[in-house]
Amino acid sequence: MLEALPSPVFLVDRADRMVEVNTAFCALAGKDRAFWLNTPLHDYLSPLQLERYTAEHAQVFATGEDLETEETIDGYDGAPRHVVTRRRRIELDGEPLVLTILSDVTALREAEARARHLAFHDPLTGLGNRAALNEQLAERLAIRPAAQPALLLIDLFQFKDINDAFGECVGDALLRAFAYRLAGAARGSDRVARTGGDTFALLIDDCADAAAAEAACRRVLAMGEAPLAGPAGAVTLGLSIGCAWAEPGVGAAELHRRAEFALYEAKQQPANVFRLFDAALAAEVQLRRTLEAELRRALAAGDQLDVHYQPVLDAGGHRVVGVEALVRWNHPERGMIPPATFIPIAEASGLIVPLGEWVLDRAAAMMVRFPEIALAVNLSPIQLRSPGIDARILAILARYGMDPRQLQLEVTESAMLAMDAGVEQGLLRLREAGAQLVLDDFGTGYSSLSHLHKLAIDRVKIDQSFVRDLGSSQDARAIIQAVLGIGQSLGIGVTAEGVEDETQQLFLRAFGCHEFQGYLFSRPLPAADAAAFLEAHRTRAAA
Ligand code: C2E
Ligand code: MG
Ligand code: MG
Repeated sequence: MLEALPSPVFLVDRADRMVEVNTAFCALAGKDRAFWLNTPLHDYLSPLQLERYTAEHAQVFATGEDLETEETIDGYDGAPRHVVTRRRRIELDGEPLVLTILSDVTALREAEARARHLAFHDPLTGLGNRAALNEQLAERLAIRPAAQPALLLIDLFQFKDINDAFGECVGDALLRAFAYRLAGAARGSDRVARTGGDTFALLIDDCADAAAAEAACRRVLAMGEAPLAGPAGAVTLGLSIGCAWAEPGVGAAELHRRAEFALYEAKQQPANVFRLFDAALAAEVQLRRTLEAELRRALAAGDQLDVHYQPVLDAGGHRVVGVEALVRWNHPERGMIPPATFIPIAEASGLIVPLGEWVLDRAAAMMVRFPEIALAVNLSPIQLRSPGIDARILAILARYGMDPRQLQLEVTESAMLAMDAGVEQGLLRLREAGAQLVLDDFGTGYSSLSHLHKLAIDRVKIDQSFVRDLGSSQDARAIIQAVLGIGQSLGIGVTAEGVEDETQQLFLRAFGCHEFQGYLFSRPLPAADAAAFLEAHRTRAAA
C-alpha cells in the first residue's frame, strides 16, 4: 500500500526507529531503504532536528491527534526542500506506530515567493513598488514613530515628452538609470520605490521639520543634475519633488496623500522645484476642495457663471474677424474668480467637460447672429480626452444652426503634443466638419517651431508673453518673426495675443501679422456689450 502512494511516507515506532519507508521517500531524501531502516536518527539529524522530531512523535503517540508541520530539509542533492509533514498514530498488529506523510511543496513555495516578489517589486527597475512602499510606511509609522520618517515623491519632469520623442525603449532605459542612481544615493535605512510610471518615492528617517525635509529635497535635486546615460545619448532629466513628513497622528495613507498634494503643486512649476506639505499648502488644498464643490453647484445652477467675448481684429484694427469666448465666474462672496484659478480645479475634477460644453452652448447661441465672425473656444486637454467630444460639439452647433466653419477650437501646444491617436481622430473629424484648429499660447510649451508643420492646424496664437516683451527682448522679436515666417510658408494664420499698445501693434504689423487680440482694441466683454461692439463694427464696415 505504501509503495502505491505517490507521496514520501515512513513509519516510526515508539523507540523512534524507522520501521518502513517507501520508494518516494528514498527519492526525496536520498539513500536507500536499508540505510533508513538501520541508521539511528542521531546519525543524520542535528541535535536540534532530533529534539523537534522526537518531541513531535512523542506528542502524537501521547495524544493520538494528527499533527501537521512544515519544515525545510536537505534534499537528496543537498538543495533545500520545503516539505509539509502530516503525522498520524496508527496501529499495526497491535503495535502503535506514527505514520508520516510528506508533501514536497518546494515548487509551490518558490512560486509563492516569486509572486510575493512581483507583488512588491517593479519589474522594470527592480525597486519596490507602491504596495511595498505602503507596507514600509505603515510599518515605520506603527513600530518606529521616533524614527521621524518623511516621504519624498519624485516625478521626472515632462517625461512623457521624452518617451514620445525617443521611444519607450529609451524611456525605459532612462527610468532604470534613474532608479539605479536614486537607489545608490539612498542611505542605510532609506527605502526607494517606483510608485508610478515616472514617479519614484524615497522614504527617509530623521526628518522632524521643514529644514530637514528641505535639505533632503535639495540632496535629491542635486543628484538629478548630472545627465543620465541612455541609448540615445546623455539626457538631463528635470525633477519635481513633493515632500511630507510624519507629524503626530498622521498615518501612512495621510502621509502619502500629503506628499502627493505637494508633488502636484511642484509639478505646476518649472523643473527642479520641490514643495513641502505645510500649513499653507494644507490651506490651499482645502480652498481648492471648497472651490470645486462650489463650482459644481454653480455649474448646475448656471447663475454665477458667464461667458465674455474678446474681439479679434484685422491688421487695420477696424474689422472684427473673430471673438474668443472666455468663461467668467462671479462668486457671490468671493467676487470674480479668475479662470487661471478655477480652470485647473475644473480640469482636475473633470468638471471642465460639462463646463466647456456649457461655454460653447452659450457662445453658439450668441454668435450665430454674426455668422461672418469666427467664434473661438478653448478646449482643455481633459475635454479632448473625453469620449464622444466631437459628436457633442457638433450637436451643440446644430442646436443653434451654426455652421461648424464658424468655430475655432483653441488647443494648447502641450495638449496637442500629448495627444494620442484616438483624440487626434476626434479633432480631425471636427476639422473635416469645417472647424478650425488653433494652437493657443504658442511658445509657452515644450514644442519647437519645427513641430508646426507636423500638426494639422489652421492658426497659431502667439503667446502674450512674447508680445509683452517685444519692445525689450531681442529674443521675443526673433521668435515672433520666425513664427510669422513659418506661418506664411505653411499657410497657417497667425494671431498675436495680449496686444496692449500701439507700438506693439506697429511692430507686429511690420512683421506681417494680420490678426490682433488685446486690451488695445477691447477687453473681454459681457454678451450684450460684445454684441453692441460687433454691431457697431458691422455698420462701420458697411459704411
Ligand atoms: P487664453 O485662451 O490664452 O485667453 C487669453 C487670455 O488673455 C484671457 O485671460 C484674456 O482676458 C487675456 N488677455 C486678452 N488680451 C489681453 C491683454 O491685452 N493683456 C493681458 N495682460 N491679457 C489679455 P482670461 O480670460 O483670464 O483666461 C485665462 C485663460 O483661461 C485662457 O487663456 C484660457 O486658457 C483659460 N480659459 C478661459 N476660458 C476658458 C474656457 O471656457 N475653457 C477653457 N478650457 N479654458 C478657458
Ligand atoms: Mg485661448
Ligand atoms: Mg492664449
